[in-house]
Order: sequence, then structure tokens, then C-alpha cells
Amino acid sequence: MEKKEKYQVLLYYNYVPIEDPEAFADEHLKFCKDLELKGRVLVAEEGINGTVSGTVEQTNKYMEAMHNDPRFADMVFKVDESDGHAFKKMHVRPRPELVTLRLEDDVNPKDTTGKYLSPKEFYEAMQDEDTVVLDARNDYEYDLGHFRGAIRPEIETFRELPEWVEENKDKLEGKKILTYCTGGIRCEKFSGWLVEKGFEDVGQLHGGIVTYGKDPEVQGELWDGQLYVFDERIAVPVNKKEHVVVGKDYFDGQPCERYINCANPECNKQILCSEENEHKYMRGCSHECRVSPRNMYVEEHNLSQEEIDERLKRIEQEDRIPAK
Ligand SMILES: [Zn+2]
Repeated sequence: MEKKEKYQVLLYYNYVPIEDPEAFADEHLKFCKDLELKGRVLVAEEGINGTVSGTVEQTNKYMEAMHNDPRFADMVFKVDESDGHAFKKMHVRPRPELVTLRLEDDVNPKDTTGKYLSPKEFYEAMQDEDTVVLDARNDYEYDLGHFRGAIRPEIETFRELPEWVEENKDKLEGKKILTYCTGGIRCEKFSGWLVEKGFEDVGQLHGGIVTYGKDPEVQGELWDGQLYVFDERIAVPVNKKEHVVVGKDYFDGQPCERYINCANPECNKQILCSEENEHKYMRGCSHECRVSPRNMYVEEHNLSQEEIDERLKRIEQEDRIPAK
């Protein structure tokens, strides 16, 4: 039997000055394509943030080449084994900043940032009574999985977080604040901003959730659900000791960890949804999206108008809100 080639997915970032991000991006794209990598890399004057996939050989070559560049000599790569590529294409894009927080004065995490906590230190600090754990990600990431007891700020995207903190200071004042994100890049800046705002005891999970899940001692303990990742895998496990499902089906609230996009391309909303409900609701997040002339589910399944009407009728019958 032919042995299947092993792949790896790399996740990495480094806050380091990069002159002329545009020129760097052009060159880097060529370099990645020569290596036959796929993925997404952002380049800004403040640094680099990327995730790429390729065979073990290709990805190892990439890491070696990056480490030979003095700017990235100490860059940490988080490496996941994989059965194949985790992306369809290779993109390298110049950006004004790596992490968007809508700040008046940008924070340089090389100057100001929260205390770096190892997975073990974070695990212990989380269980301290005076600690608040603040999720520094988007809402759909939290909904798939998060640290037990972590605050879910009522925001849609990470960049709204500073505003939320300003409005909810009473929840945080006098407490030890812990922040965490996928790989650590968002927390370096966000925790730095918290320190600049005058919060005295701010800690961040060093290496992010990805590192926490790989730590041989904590083994992802106190993480519930799965980790949302920005590639085709979408969800990866973290907690090696137990698996508590926290995701809920968008339609019926049943435990669910399956993300899909609304079939109306103009909406494209990401929702947790079982296979069964995907068919029932024609992958539409709302009535408008179900009956949209551009609904891709309808197209994929070649549904006739009669079949569409039948499903709409069933939804209406089954989901009728009981009279009070
Ligand atoms: Zn929709």
C-alpha cells in the first residue's frame, strides 16, 4: 500500500519592523509558491502573521529559511500534523496593521504588553477567585469553544473590544485580568492596551490556545468545546482530558460543533448547524436567505419550486411559536 504523505499546518507571527511591506509581500508570495505552500500571510510595518500548510518537507524548509532571516530568527512556529493542505490557495497581503483594535494611539507590544503566562501558570491563575478571564476573539470563535467561565464580551468582532472594556470597567477593576486568543498575537496588543489603560494585573496566555492544548502537563484542561481556526479545518480539539460540547445549533439549540455558511452569498453568515437542519432550512439563516434567488443550496440540490415550497411549509408548521 502506498504510504500517504504527511502534511503540517504552521501558525506563526512576529512583531518586528518590516520596511516596505508591499515589496516584502510580493517577494514572499513568490517564495511560498516556489515551496508549493498554501495559506494566508499578512505583512505590515509592525510585523508578520501567517498560517500555511504543506508537506512536512516543504513546511520544514520554510521554517528553516525564515529562521535564517535575522528578523525572524526567534519566531515561534506552532505546528499541527494534517492529512493534507488546509487551504486552497496561497496569499500574502500587505496590511496597515496586523491586528485591528480601532485604537487612537496604537500599542507596540514590544514596549508594553501583559505578563506572559505559561500554560501551567495560566491554568493556575484561572482558578484564582479574584481573576476574570477575558476572551479576546470574535463571538463566533467563543461560541464554538472557550475557557470555562471566561467572559464573552458582547461584541461581534475583536476590534470592538477596547470600547467594550471602557463601558464595562466595573467588571474588571481591582481584579486580575487574564486574556487569551488563538495563537497569542491579538493578546500581545490587547493586553498592552489594558496595561496602558491603567489595569495593574494583566496576564496573557503565552502562545495562545494552540500552545495550551499541546502542553503535556495541562493538556488543554478547563477548555470547553473546540478551537475555531482560520483554515479549512475550522474546528480543532484542545482539551485532551475531556470534551464538553458548548456549541449550540443555530436553529434548535441542540449541542453542535458544525459550522456552515448561510447559502445566500449576500449573507454568508457563519452558523452552527446539524446536517439535518441544513437540509430542513435549505442552509438559509433566515426566511429571506432561504427564498433568495441566489440560494446556493437550492442550486446544489436542484430543488424545484414545489420542493422549496414544501420545505418552507414544513418549517412554518414545525417552528410555529406556541401561543401564550
Ligand atoms: Zn443568511
